[in-house]
Amino acid sequence: MIDEYGREIDYIRISVTDRCNLRCVYCMPEEGVPSISHDEILRFDEITRICRVLAGKGFKKVKLTGGEPLIRKGILSLIKEIKAIDGIENVTVTTNGVLLEEMYGALADAGVDAVTVSLDTLDPEMYRRLTRRGELETVLRGLTLAMRENRIPLKINCVSVYGVREQELLKVAALARDNAVHVRFIEMMPIGMGREFTFVGEEEIRRMLEEAFGPAKTYGGVLGNGPARYWEFEGFKGKIGFISAVSHKFCSSCNRIRLTSDGFLKTCLQFDEGADLRRILREGGSDEALAAAIDEAVGRKPLGHNFGEKNTFPEGKTEECHR
Ligand code: SF4
Repeated sequence: MIDEYGREIDYIRISVTDRCNLRCVYCMPEEGVPSISHDEILRFDEITRICRVLAGKGFKKVKLTGGEPLIRKGILSLIKEIKAIDGIENVTVTTNGVLLEEMYGALADAGVDAVTVSLDTLDPEMYRRLTRRGELETVLRGLTLAMRENRIPLKINCVSVYGVREQELLKVAALARDNAVHVRFIEMMPIGMGREFTFVGEEEIRRMLEEAFGPAKTYGGVLGNGPARYWEFEGFKGKIGFISAVSHKFCSSCNRIRLTSDGFLKTCLQFDEGADLRRILREGGSDEALAAAIDEAVGRKPLGHNFGEKNTFPEGKTEECHR
């Protein structure tokens, strides 16, 4: 689909659950996280139906996120069903990695096209502090298995929050030196609890990395579906990427929309613009009605976010995992 500003929109990020087995400090409170009731969450047949309608409109890429997508029961069947839709070329998953070791083989068998694992630090104590419930060792076991088996292209996303020591970011970056895996540093978007944290910006991280690993060259190719820009460091097996939504706003080339786990189609992470697709589904609406709502919502897709300008941060929690 081409939107009002001439952007080709062919990528949807679908949150399959608002729940998570971690409680990252920049995402959720430690206790008392309100969760969406089971009945309100889209069923798999509803998600695949939306994907089919989107494929008919030229969507090719689907990312399954959460919350933590791997805790949703039956996720592997959903992956297979979406993969089987004509026109969908690419189904990828982001995960915090807690269940990666356990599910890696099944994800590969289901035909997942890529997995992105979130990892902000290699210090066990810091990891426990940031995620409140996680054990670094569990995620590392999953990553080691994934790198050894190498059946699914793998990336690591690192949210660079101030307070995580410089050495830690270097250690995460060094995973791309020692393994054929790309490591991307993500600027935290000032949404929900993320507003309370300050991220380390791209320039600062690049400076740290160049001091430690030598000069970097920009990588001209495209890797994956998203807005990451990549750099190559001498001697590294993988690349270092930056997803810098605030310091290097990429809205002008935005190719994505999002579906919340309760069926709201969001056309920009910052705004509540979009369409209530669950209502249409549950009121017995036709595929044509869904398609019309999608057209209308994409037609109104905002030109861009205004994060970084004072008093423009939205209130409350955003459902999608920050990482
Ligand atoms: S940031 Fe992602 S992994 Fe962490 S609690 Fe939020 S949804 Fe879970």
